[in-house]
Amino acid sequence: MIIVLKPNSSDADIESVSNLVQTLRYQPRVIRGVERTVVACIGDELSNRSLEVLGNLPAVEAVMPVQQRYKLVSREYSAHNTAIKVNGTVIGGKKIAIIAGPCAVESATQFRTVVGDLKALGINLIRAMAFKPRTSPYDFQGLKADAVAIMRDVKSEFGVSLVTEILGPSQVEMVHEVSDVLQIGARNAQNYDLLESVAQARKPVLLKRGMASTVEEWLTAAEYLLVNGCTDVILCERGLRSFDRSVRNLLDLGGVAVAKHETHLPILVDPSHAAGKRSLVMPLAKAALGAGADGLIIEAHPTPDEAFSDAAQQLPSSEFGAVMTELAPWIALAESERGE
Ligand code: PEP
Ligand code: MN
Repeated sequence: MIIVLKPNSSDADIESVSNLVQTLRYQPRVIRGVERTVVACIGDELSNRSLEVLGNLPAVEAVMPVQQRYKLVSREYSAHNTAIKVNGTVIGGKKIAIIAGPCAVESATQFRTVVGDLKALGINLIRAMAFKPRTSPYDFQGLKADAVAIMRDVKSEFGVSLVTEILGPSQVEMVHEVSDVLQIGARNAQNYDLLESVAQARKPVLLKRGMASTVEEWLTAAEYLLVNGCTDVILCERGLRSFDRSVRNLLDLGGVAVAKHETHLPILVDPSHAAGKRSLVMPLAKAALGAGADGLIIEAHPTPDEAFSDAAQQLPSSEFGAVMTELAPWIALAESERGE
């Protein structure tokens, strides 16, 4: 931490700041400038107590942290990009990863059809949502245990890997044997108790960014997963709540670029929940690839207009071949830019 003192601080002020810094177990180093004095505080900001309390002293103008609040997610901790293998499909490797599937599992026929359409295109990572976090309790909440039974059958028929959102710790056990990746959705992005339970499942976790989370809060939430023993963390930007309702959520590709710079973890983009409507999904998907995303997670449904949730944004799974063809040059360019 760096403590900036107000102009014309006296020696007594500097001494009282230094004394408090020492009480808080940092070593103070006083640097006297022409106009200002600053006190550099030496010590590990992650394990020592916060020095923010110093801001209460009359002589102190600002207290500035110099260390990030995360460690294990940072590039300083691991210089190489982390690639995560899910049954033979790699997320964060040389190739762009594609996850697709419906907003929710709605019936055996619906799920079987969508998985058949996607598998035929070589897509092996499937959205398989059994529990839906809905704003209204009157909206479709997911088929829960019935969805898990459908997922089990369809998975054994097609040999695909499944991504399932977890809303509470008790659901981890319900899907543990059938789901390959556990998702923490935007609404639970800072539910630290849930992050700890999901980390303990020892499965890859796809962590979405909260709809009003800063990049630092998003990465620090990922730190909870790593510190609790989950090594395979995939981040996902899905758009932020904004003043402008012309898109459902404001896709923060600047945040993706910043996060790529900060962390070794793979970062996906979800253009579907950002777009909110079908016609905007492709432009956002292409922009995400341009911004350096490691892959995309896209909603697809056999008959989107009849979907129980997010009907407006799901793409028809029977036309997903055209989606992949349209994305192909963007994927090829992104892959040619990737190292390793
Ligand atoms: C989802 O992916 O099913 C979902 C609910 O997304 P988000 O958490 O981004 O709203
Ligand atoms: Mn959805």
